[in-house]
Amino acid sequence: MKKILIFITALLIALIGVLVFNTLSLKSKQLVSANGVPLQLPVDQNAVEHLSQAIQINTISFADSIKMAEAQPRFDSFIRFMKSTYPLVFTSLEDTIINGRNILLEWKGSDASLPPAILYAHMDVVPIEQNTIAQWKHAPFSGDVADGYIWGRGALDDKGSLISIFEALTRCLQKGLKPQQSIYIASGSDEEVGGNTGAEAIAQYCRENKLHFGFYEDEGLMVTQGVVPNMKKDVALIGTAEKGYITVELMVNMPGGHSSKPQKQTALDVLVKAVKKVHDKPFEKMLSPSTDGFIDYLASEMPGPLKVIFANKWLFKGLILSEYEKTDAGNALVRTTGVTTVMNAGLQDNVIPTQVSAKINFRILPGQTTQQVEEKVKEIIADNRVHIIPGEKVEPSQSTPANSWGFKLLQKTSAEVFPDAVVAPALMIGSTDSKHFTGLTDETYRFFPTRMDNEAIGSFHGINERIKIPYFMETIRFYETLLNNMQTFSAENRK
Ligand SMILES: [Zn+2]
Repeated sequence: MKKILIFITALLIALIGVLVFNTLSLKSKQLVSANGVPLQLPVDQNAVEHLSQAIQINTISFADSIKMAEAQPRFDSFIRFMKSTYPLVFTSLEDTIINGRNILLEWKGSDASLPPAILYAHMDVVPIEQNTIAQWKHAPFSGDVADGYIWGRGALDDKGSLISIFEALTRCLQKGLKPQQSIYIASGSDEEVGGNTGAEAIAQYCRENKLHFGFYEDEGLMVTQGVVPNMKKDVALIGTAEKGYITVELMVNMPGGHSSKPQKQTALDVLVKAVKKVHDKPFEKMLSPSTDGFIDYLASEMPGPLKVIFANKWLFKGLILSEYEKTDAGNALVRTTGVTTVMNAGLQDNVIPTQVSAKINFRILPGQTTQQVEEKVKEIIADNRVHIIPGEKVEPSQSTPANSWGFKLLQKTSAEVFPDAVVAPALMIGSTDSKHFTGLTDETYRFFPTRMDNEAIGSFHGINERIKIPYFMETIRFYETLLNNMQTFSAENRK
C-alpha cells in the first residue's frame, strides 16, 4: 500500500513538473516591432470623403439575375467612381472589367519568377431590412461623416477594405514603388449572394490565363477588441481556413387526408422525428489546424492558470474543447454544426399534408467533407421514408499553415501597424469569396485589418454599420505597409 502511495506521489510530482516546465518554457510567438510605436504613415485626408462617396452608391447584389441586371447601372456608376477617384491606379495598372461589373487590376512586377500576389475586396453590399430603417442614426446610403465615424452600409463590409486598398495603392504609386512580384487587385460584385457571377468569373479568367498566386488576401477576421475571452490586448486574428457548407433537404411523402381521422403517424410526424434525431446527435468536437494554431499563438499571452492549460494541450485538450462548446461562437469553432433553417408543411388546419420537407444547413470543419455530412445524416435518421436530398455545397478550405510566407508577412505588417495587438491564426466560420479561388493560390488569408469590438461586429449586415475614422486610417496604413513589406520580404524569405 505504502509503495503504491509513494509511486502515485512520484507520478504526480513528475506530472506537475512537466506542466510547469511546459508553461515556463513557452516562447512567445509574437513579433515585436522596433520600438512598439505604430508606423505613422501620413494618410490622404480625402480618403474619408472617398469612402463616404463609395457608400453613397448603392451596390446591393441579388441572387436573382433579372434583379442583378436591373442593378447594373448602379455597378456601372460604382466602377466609374473608382476610375475617377483613383486615376493613378487605373492608368498605372492594367485593368480588366469582367462580366461588366467586376474589377481585376494587374500591377506588373519586375521579377517574373516570383509568384504573384492578389488582394481581394468585394464591392457589393447586403440590403437594408425595411423595418429597421428608422433605427439607423444616419441613413444607410448617406455616407455621413459624423461623431468620428463614416456611416452606412458597406463601411465595414467591404467597401472600408476596398477603398483602403486603393488609397494605399495610390500612395505606393506616388512614392514610385516598383513591385518585384506582380500584384493583382480584384473586386467582385456579388459576394453577398455567393459570388457566382463575380469572384467565380474573376477566378475563371485567372484559370484561363494560367495565373497562379503565391498569396491571396480577402476580407475575414479582424483586429478584435475584447472579443477573445481572457485577453486584455487586442488580437489580430488572421483567418487561415474557412468552414465549408452543405444544405441537406429532408423530404417525406405519405398519404394525408382529413384531420378528423388521422393516421397513427403522418408525414409531418416522421419529418419532425428525423429533424430531432439530427439535432440530438451533434458532430464530434475537435481542434482544426487553425484553432490549434490559435491556442499555440495565444498560450504565452494568457493569464496564469490559462497559460498552464494552453501550454499543455496534450493533457487539457478535452477541457479546452468543453469550454469552447459552451458558447455558440466557440461551439462553431470546434465542430461541424447543423441547424434547421426552413420547414415546409401544411396548407390548412384541417388537412393532413402529404408532402413535407425541412432544410438543415451544415457548416463543416476543415478536415471533414460534405460527403461525410450526407452519410452521417443518413445514418442518424435511418428511416427510408425520409428522402435526403443534398443541396448547395462547398467543401471546407485547406488550412494555410502559420509558418507560411504570407502569414509571416501579415504578422510582421500587423506588428508594425498594430504593435499593441497580438497576432494569431484562426478559423473563419463564415464564408468568403476566397472559396472561388481554390486551386488558384498556395496561401489564402482572410483578414480585414481594422480594429473591431463586439458592438461593431454586430453592425455587419446589421443596423448603423460604420467605421471609426482613426481605425479606417490604420487600415489604409496596413495595406500600404503590406505592399511595401512584400518587396523586402520576398528577398529575405522567398529566395
Ligand atoms: Zn463581406
